[in-house]
Formats: sequence, C-alpha cells, structure tokens
Amino acid sequence: MKTWFLDQPKQLRLHESPPTALQDNLVKVKIEQILLTNSLFGIYSGKSSRNYPFVMGRNAIGVVSEVSDKSMLRKMDRVAIEPYIPCEQCEECRSNNHSDCSEIVEFGQNADGLLQNFIDLPCTILHQLPDNLSNEKALFVSYVSFCLNIVDSLKLEKGRHIAIFSSTKTGLILAQLVAYYQAVPIFCSNEEVLVAEARKLGILYCINTEEVAVAKEIQIVTGGRMCKELVYFSDSEFKMKDVYDSAAQNATICLAGYSNKDSRLSVAQMCQKHLKIMGVYNGLGNFSSAINLLVTGKVNVDNLIGDVVSFEKLDQVLANTTDEELKLKSKIIKVE
Ligand SMILES: [Zn+2]
Repeated sequence: MKTWFLDQPKQLRLHESPPTALQDNLVKVKIEQILLTNSLFGIYSGKSSRNYPFVMGRNAIGVVSEVSDKSMLRKMDRVAIEPYIPCEQCEECRSNNHSDCSEIVEFGQNADGLLQNFIDLPCTILHQLPDNLSNEKALFVSYVSFCLNIVDSLKLEKGRHIAIFSSTKTGLILAQLVAYYQAVPIFCSNEEVLVAEARKLGILYCINTEEVAVAKEIQIVTGGRMCKELVYFSDSEFKMKDVYDSAAQNATICLAGYSNKDSRLSVAQMCQKHLKIMGVYNGLGNFSSAINLLVTGKVNVDNLIGDVVSFEKLDQVLANTTDEELKLKSKIIKVE
C-alpha cells in the first residue's frame, strides 16, 4: 500500500506499507484517479493548515478489489467514493438529517484523505458508476452533490433570479443546476476565466465583478427587484457588501462551504433587510442524483478536466503547480 503523507506544507512523503487484511464490513478499493483541485493545492501549500502528517485527497474514483460476503458490490465494480461519514450519534443524524451532522468526518478535510493506492471503506459510501460515465467526469460527483444540497436548501422558484458569487469552478456547476431547475442564475465572479466558461455553458447573465459594479448590474437584470436568493461561496474573493447590496428585502443568503476566509456583514445590515442567512457545508446524501445529472449531461464538466499527472511523481508535480493553472481545470492524478 502506498500513501502520500504531507509532513508539513510543501513536504510530501510516499509511505509504503504491507497490505492489510480486509475487515468483515468493509470493501477494499483500488484507487484509480484522484482530483487535484485548488483546495487540495491550498492544503499542500499551507494556505489552510492541518494536523501533520496529513493525507490529502477528497475526490476519488476506484475499482473494487476485494469484498466481504455481506457487500452488495462485486469485484471490479467501478465506484465513486463519497468522502463523508456522518457520526450516526448526534441529534441531526438520529433525525435522519445527515448533511447537518455536527461531527461529520470528511476525507481530505478534517480526516485523512484518499491520496493512496488502496483503501478499505464501508460499502455505504461507495457508489457504483454506470459504464457511460467516465472516471474523469465522475471525479466531480461530490461537487454536483454539494450544489444539489444548495439547490435543495434554496427551494428554487421557476423564473426567479439567483445570484451566485463564486471565485471557484463549483459556482459553474451550481449555475448549470439552477438553470436546469428553471430559475435564472446570475453568475458573478472576479475570475475572467470562469466568467468566460459560464458564457460558453450558456449561462445568460455572467458578471465579472472586477469590471462592473455588481449590484448595479443585478439591479438592471432584475428590473430593480434584486435577488431573493443569493449564494456566496465562502472561499471566494468578494466584499460581503456586494452580496448585501445585491439582495432584496427578506432575501436568503446561502453561505456555501466552510472556508476560514473572513468577510464582514453586520447584524444591523441583516436586520435592515430582514435577511435570512444559512449554511450548506457538504454534498452528503445527493450522490446518486449527482451521478445521474452527470450521465445525462445536465451538468457539463468537460472543460473542468485538466491534464493527467502521475501519482508516483506527485511531489514533483505539486512543486511545479500554481494556483492559477487550477482555476478552471483540475488535474487528474492517475494511480498506476
Ligand atoms: Zn451526526
């Protein structure tokens, strides 16, 4: 078994250990591909620190290599790994509301991740992939699932304008879903490469927040009504004031993700506009729907798929990677 450990920022170590015997209730998965994203790169470069040594890797596809008798999966099944394990103990879990679990384990975030060649996992977090979905596309399942949880929390209405503030490509996935559910996405980003991609994807309203006053643009687009629902990806580079100015009275602002970036919105502002603020933190629970949306092409991630890089040479690859080149395309780490 090979595992990449991050001993400290920018210091990777490939550790080899003898294979483990499979426990009764687990499935052994040979990992085939892992997604190299901005957030993985942020952990690597120390932008967000961890308890070291740490195993990165949140999005991975694998093949079942060994099963216990009880498993529903078979050897050689291709699977997407759902990177969340709810605690099953807290009040939310007991009310079957797992995505709000307060003690959730998330691989590659608050627990060791998937940057290894073999891993033993419970079959409940393994989702069999249909033949017509490529590994590369399937690597984005957790992003689609996360965006589905955002859509679910917003209770979209047909024809309603939804402002999406995003400095990352996850916003592009959400914009497609919002359009699919017949609301009208307004994609706002400070990254021109993402704004251009949103236009290519057929998103009608795409705003580069570096070039225009975003609230003014949203006022024009909405005929002065502004937005009743807004999504702010918490790892984005925006002033909260822009989000606030784009909100209608009684609007709901969804804070997506759990970045440690700080942004100011005063209690007075929230009261003056009667704003409702809520958070969506993960993609737990919507994996099967997400796989279906990728298979049917309702969500297009073709242009988010970047170069293939080698698992064995990952230390060299990361030493020569920049945040900039991962803005639109994530790299694919291929495990031989
Ligand atoms: Zn729980």
